[in-house]
Amino acid sequence: MKLSSGYPFWLVKNGLPYNYPKLQTSIKTDVAILGGGISGALSAYYLINAGINCVVIDARTIGLGSTCASTSLLQYEIDTPLCKLKNLVGLDNAVRSYQLCAEAIETIETITKKINYKQFKASKSLYYAAYKKDISFLEEEFTIRKQHGFKVKFLTQAQLKKQFNITAPCAILSKCAAKIDAYSFTHTLLQHSLKKGLQIFDRTPIKNIKHNKNKVTLTTENGNTIVANKLIYATGYEAVNFIKKKIVKLHSTYATISEQANVKTKFWKDNVLIWNTADPYLYMRTTSDNRILIGGRDEEFFNPIKRDKLINRKKNQLVKDFNAVFPSIEFKPEFTWTGTFGATKDGLPFIGTYPSLPNSYFALGFGGNGITFSVIAAEIITDLIIGKKNNDAEIFSFQRI
Ligand SMILES: Cc1cc2nc3c(=O)[nH]c(=O)nc-3n(C[C@H](O)[C@H](O)[C@H](O)COP(=O)(O)OP(=O)(O)OC[C@H]3O[C@@H](n4cnc5c(N)ncnc54)[C@H](O)[C@@H]3O)c2cc1C
Repeated sequence: MKLSSGYPFWLVKNGLPYNYPKLQTSIKTDVAILGGGISGALSAYYLINAGINCVVIDARTIGLGSTCASTSLLQYEIDTPLCKLKNLVGLDNAVRSYQLCAEAIETIETITKKINYKQFKASKSLYYAAYKKDISFLEEEFTIRKQHGFKVKFLTQAQLKKQFNITAPCAILSKCAAKIDAYSFTHTLLQHSLKKGLQIFDRTPIKNIKHNKNKVTLTTENGNTIVANKLIYATGYEAVNFIKKKIVKLHSTYATISEQANVKTKFWKDNVLIWNTADPYLYMRTTSDNRILIGGRDEEFFNPIKRDKLINRKKNQLVKDFNAVFPSIEFKPEFTWTGTFGATKDGLPFIGTYPSLPNSYFALGFGGNGITFSVIAAEIITDLIIGKKNNDAEIFSFQRI
């Protein structure tokens, strides 16, 4: 699957910071982790810390799946608003999902300190109404979030204009959010775990997987095998190759980043993360090297050829969208990219066991919160592997569909 095209900024910025070998022999391990993106790297981090022997295998060079294309906003706010999610999964599970995403942001911050990773930046998140018709929805969303303890403020049109210089009907300002670079974070996580005994092999496509009663055998394209007691599928959107059920709708999304601005340039108040109620939504953030990153303009198809043809047009549309919000801020696009994106019916990820594939777990952080979902997946799966009860596991299980 061609997961991204164009010039994903983090890949341009960081290049290929570390090399990992191909697997050239047959090996045994307690846990095999298929996929070396952010999901695989986080699961490996948790398992290695729990003293479990594990191996990460990736078909691509590490990080070159969806992870390098991520715009890396960290939000507790799921693509499905809380007031709608409660109707899909029940109020308790909906609130808990939001809480877990908020906790995941704190967890990421803690991990970054432990592994000495510097590109994490705490922020706030501004969710504004794109249209007048969204005012009552945003009021309802604000009320339910407030009722359940999330630190939110409602901004009227006048307050939004005064504080952020945005002309829109109203907004919710949330205290909990952050920015990161998922690609360099993945490498730093893996490097940290490598020193603690993790084995990592990239450019090693797995062509066959046999799930036996007590073990799983993965066979590489060269015929080498990895025999593991357990397997974690951290395969991102390519999980559709392993699961017959239609669990995710794949579509295409676009992002563009500006040239670097002068160090002293102030973009908007506190450089908060910004997104809106449009469908598809527009979102923007800033970077530590003083650029503005905007994303959105999603298309409901997945075809990479069709997707890639639109890159230039989407870039122009995104710049226009940005200028409509901030007419006085200059945005000169420098790098633009596109990627496959997956959405589930309820906006929640799929985490845990899949009945027909014994001795395996899935860590599928689909949706706009892929990174925070990857943290939740790593926590739940580690608990399941070490035999510890996890009260949240059911919320994201395959059994819910
Ligand atoms: C443009 C864009 C913007 C995004 N913005 C955000 C955002 O702001 N915030 C956020 O939280 N999320 C965002 N996401 C989503 C987020 O990037 C993803 O959820 C996340 O990167 C997925 O990581 P992953 O490790 O699960 O998958 P991947 O990074 O795709 O890694 C999976 C790996 O599995 C490997 N693999 C698959 N099959 C095999 C096989 N048979 N053999 C060997 N290896 C295999 C692949 O090679 C791949 O490298 C965005 C995504 C895109 C595309």
